Amino acid sequence: MSEGRAARTIAATNGVAQDTAFGAVIAPIHLSTTFKFPAFEQAGPYDYSRLGNPTRDQLADTIAKLEGGARAVMVASGMAALDLALSSLRPGDLLVAPHDCYGGTHRLLSLRAARGHYRVSFVDQTDETALAAALAQVPKVVLVETPSNPLMRVVDIRHVTAGARTVGALSVVDNTFLSPALQQPIALGADLVVHSTTKFLNGHSDVIGGAVIAADAALGEELAAWANTIGVTGSPLDAYLTLRGVRTLFVRVERQQQTAGRLAAFLEAHPAVSRVHYPGLPTHPGHAIARAQQAGFGAMLSFELSGGRAAVRTLVGALQVFTLAESLGGVESLIAHPPTMTHAAMDPEARTIAGITDGLLRLSIGLEAEDDLLADLARALEAVAGA
Ligand SMILES: *Cc1c(COP(=O)(O)O)cnc(C)c1O
Repeated sequence: MSEGRAARTIAATNGVAQDTAFGAVIAPIHLSTTFKFPAFEQAGPYDYSRLGNPTRDQLADTIAKLEGGARAVMVASGMAALDLALSSLRPGDLLVAPHDCYGGTHRLLSLRAARGHYRVSFVDQTDETALAAALAQVPKVVLVETPSNPLMRVVDIRHVTAGARTVGALSVVDNTFLSPALQQPIALGADLVVHSTTKFLNGHSDVIGGAVIAADAALGEELAAWANTIGVTGSPLDAYLTLRGVRTLFVRVERQQQTAGRLAAFLEAHPAVSRVHYPGLPTHPGHAIARAQQAGFGAMLSFELSGGRAAVRTLVGALQVFTLAESLGGVESLIAHPPTMTHAAMDPEARTIAGITDGLLRLSIGLEAEDDLLADLARALEAVAGA
């Protein structure tokens, strides 16, 4: 019934005003773990909430529509979503993953590989030769994360998923950094999309959650069944809160990215900053691809201070509006130091290969007034220059 409606209409209203019991405009939350059988040997639409729950299904249905997929499976975290999306891999199978992926993803893949669950090859997917060499080894799954965390490298989704298809590999795209409001990987050839709904989809930094969206209904069913079997499905309360966040996804992200663009330009012109990584800057190496495959440049950026770790210490100590914290995608602006925070689990050598230097800082832009954020950064950078 939402056929033909704009994505922002689906985000704001999918499932609204459907309550048959009381006519509630906002669907009630169903916390019940178990559901009554109408009669002996006769099950209703739901029996047990690990397998299925109306509140969680409403969120799943909304996210599946936003991503243009056949089905979404809501799970307890982004990490659970990644693990579920990779659950078809068997011992000996090869997974090609980005060399600069999210730190927790790097740890998950490395530890599963160390336990012999599958083999993993970390590759710079923007390097044509390295990508071709990896595909020549006939991987079973190719994992893409774009823009990447924390360096905002942009990978051509259409190109990589087409390459994966030619060798018979499943392609999985982590779309956490942009959300379906700005990028829809299934339309670009992805088989599965993964989200940490903790980030932009929920958007209020109060729920840990994840989603896997399948382009194909049969694969989606299989993953849903496996999520139930291993017990990683998300809680109804989390689903309720996340759906409330999804209602405002488009306005949040659009406003946040507008501010991010202005801050990126300001940082690029600042003498204490040696590099800015933001796909919206014409100087960014992935700018043209980002322009082609994204509906916007997003609200995440990172930059490098020429003064290294000492300058980082001064800057984060001087900031008053930005909060020093991990995570992203909330309404409050956050600053993180990847080498000591999000990517601390990665060994120093892998960090160097990925280009994560000691002077690197990552920003998640929230909904504060642009001028307050700009003034905060300007003041803190003055402290760096004066130190
Ligand atoms: C946060 C994040 C994850 C992990 O999600 P959790 O909800 O923290 O488990 C995976 N991928 C990316 C890109 C992330 O930013």
